[in-house]
Amino acid sequence: MVLAQLGGSISRALQQMSNATIIDEKVLNDCLNEITRALLQADVQFKLVRDMQTNIKKIVNLDDLAAGHNKRKIIQQAIFNELCKILDPGKLAFTLKKGKPSVVMFVGLQGSGKTTRCTKYAYYHQKKGWKPALVCADTFRAGAFDQLKQNATKAKIPFYGRKSSSKCVEVVVIPKSDPVRIAVEGVERFKKENCDLIIVDTSGRHKQEAALFEEMRQVSEATKPDLVIFVMDSSIGQAAFDQAQAFKQSVAVGAVIVTKMDGHAKGGGALSAVAATKSPVIFIGTGEHMDEFEVFDVKPFVSRLLGMGDWSGFMDKIHEVVPMDQQPELLQKLSEGTFTLRIMYEQFQNILKMGPIGQVFSMLPGFSQELMPQGREKESQAKIKRYMTMMDSMTNEELDSSNPKLMNESRIMRIARGCGRPVRDVVDMLEEYKRLAKVWGKMKGLKIPKKGEMSALSRNMNA
Ligand code: GDP
Repeated sequence: MVLAQLGGSISRALQQMSNATIIDEKVLNDCLNEITRALLQADVQFKLVRDMQTNIKKIVNLDDLAAGHNKRKIIQQAIFNELCKILDPGKLAFTLKKGKPSVVMFVGLQGSGKTTRCTKYAYYHQKKGWKPALVCADTFRAGAFDQLKQNATKAKIPFYGRKSSSKCVEVVVIPKSDPVRIAVEGVERFKKENCDLIIVDTSGRHKQEAALFEEMRQVSEATKPDLVIFVMDSSIGQAAFDQAQAFKQSVAVGAVIVTKMDGHAKGGGALSAVAATKSPVIFIGTGEHMDEFEVFDVKPFVSRLLGMGDWSGFMDKIHEVVPMDQQPELLQKLSEGTFTLRIMYEQFQNILKMGPIGQVFSMLPGFSQELMPQGREKESQAKIKRYMTMMDSMTNEELDSSNPKLMNESRIMRIARGCGRPVRDVVDMLEEYKRLAKVWGKMKGLKIPKKGEMSALSRNMNA
């Protein structure tokens, strides 16, 4: 996965710098060269990378930094800020209001992941209490109708298109291939039904061509969307700049979704190129499944890239999936910093519930690379289940103790016999526990955030 590769290289470079006894010019240059290489490999534009390097060197003037300054922190902060600058378009996406009917039009080339993303976007908002509806105005690609209808039915989202037989869908027969008419009728219908998020999927073509842009313009004029979302495949890297510009010149693109960030090495280039067109990226697609769709926010994203975790995203996930009555207790435990095997067990339970486990882990510093390598989620999930089976053979005293010395040889042998696993597996699990306990320990003294304080928390934790 692109982010894992890029993030891995960048955090390795930072780690090497942290391990150096003295931070001098050479150590700083080595670190910056490593980061430069990683960014260029991810297809980030050369000029952006070069400017980043120059800016960091200007900020981090080692000669001027008096003794006592934490040079590592200053360098890390400068790298963080410069990466944010590369990805920040300096413009926010238009915010839609829940309860007020809004029309959102999806545009993009064929195969970019537009139709898949429409449902994910609808589903994401549905979970947050919106009343979304889907309209299929893609009359160009055979199969788009069935695909969207199927997805809509699965997610129980009202759907409107050219023909239908599904239960959750109205039966509508419209003269063939009139995307503008289909779009208008769908929007009118769902406005009457008080849907507050009416999503119109439009046709794509294999390449940017006049017919595609003309059709987009007509649908846009007829439906007057509150927001036009341009969906693009990240595999084109920095060529995303031209593509995003071309779409922006034809319709009023207000936000971008960059897809397939799971499969291509050029994702970093695509994201920075889109930012350069002053278009805010609002989501990234990280896989084909419904949940593999993440809100894109520059600071937490860079924070994850640097291996510092994404506490705001993690807290959001906690609010989303941990039952309300269990949240205060979990946050309390986090702030105490004491990590017992029982807490690890409960966290594994939560993580298994949180859906795509890779997403959740990548938000936590320390968890992501070791226990949860990107792209190997299934194996990691199996590993977690295995650990939990072993923990089922532990006594309450063992589960509730935070003293690693308690787990002596005879206890380890007994647990191995109890769960029917080799002793080395139990040892392995206890090693993992010690590693996670160290990460957890960093959260000691954590100020439990109220909603809206997430980014402040993120900054504190990353400092
Ligand atoms: P459209 O022609 O733009 O409507 O594209 P589709 O939504 O039909 O997607 C094209 C293909 O890309 C399908 O096979 C999707 O399952 C796949 N796809 C879409 N988004 C992603 C993503 O984020 N990651 C991966 N790996 N595949 C994706």
